[in-house]
Amino acid sequence: MDLHDMELRIDRHGLKIAGRRDNGFNFTCPFHDDRTPSAWAFNTGRRIKLGCFACGNIEERLLRYFGLTFKDTKLGNGMDTNSITVNPKWIILPTMYELGLTSPIFDDGSAIYKYKTYSGLLYGYVVRYDKPDGKKSFAQITHGYFSNESKTSARFARKGFGDGRPPYVVGYPTNQNIVVVEGEKTALEFYRVYRTLQSYIDNLPNIAVVTAAASLHGAKVTNWGIFRGKNVIVWPDNDMPGMNFAKVICAKAIDFDCYKVSLINPRKYFPGLPLKWDLADSPVTYGYGYDRIISVLTSCFE
Ligand SMILES: [Zn+2]
Repeated sequence: MDLHDMELRIDRHGLKIAGRRDNGFNFTCPFHDDRTPSAWAFNTGRRIKLGCFACGNIEERLLRYFGLTFKDTKLGNGMDTNSITVNPKWIILPTMYELGLTSPIFDDGSAIYKYKTYSGLLYGYVVRYDKPDGKKSFAQITHGYFSNESKTSARFARKGFGDGRPPYVVGYPTNQNIVVVEGEKTALEFYRVYRTLQSYIDNLPNIAVVTAAASLHGAKVTNWGIFRGKNVIVWPDNDMPGMNFAKVICAKAIDFDCYKVSLINPRKYFPGLPLKWDLADSPVTYGYGYDRIISVLTSCFE
């Protein structure tokens, strides 16, 4: 491992990273109420050492917290959190994609969604394909390097997101009110609608709209650190898979120490909406104005 690997590992636990230096960085300590941040990682030249200025020598606790052993912290032992194990089935994408040039593999993709880690590093992309028959599919693209190559060879590969993946976030993640929906398209579209409504309605607070890559499975394996201390409002699709997704999110909100979590069951609040209705669809056709959506939402706000 090296400092970058440790940073990724810590970032995936939702802790804030600051004060990067050549031989170390700081992060918020998970074991005390830390705003400074006062926990540290330091490259001794042999290994990456951890500690906290406030708690003292808590390296063992920190390692356990991050799922690491002492051995993992040694430099160059291949314990790389961002490495891709060689598998010929994965398609390597040219780096020109990162330059904004279209890669042939995306030619029929209808949208690309960018995922970032909590400390703002690029985590990967989800590509959405809308097929002529109305069905959709997704591909996950991660950024990393092959474990038998140097880190400077980092590139994109068609490889699924790992556990501890970051959520997809639209808007300001620091806002108190976090609305959870299903799918990147819904998150983007509802955020756009909400921003427009803000210009008509006074005192409508800023929100962040978030989702998980790969719906139900994604909900289970996403790092929901963004929920800590927040008011979480879950607004699933109007169907059974939607409710299953919502139940997982509610449990995660509690696990991740949210301030409060509310679940909006569309079937109860909006009788008559068609199956699969979500916040990207207009409610007007079904006899509901956006004022109704806003009043349900604001009743959950802090
Ligand atoms: Zn501490």
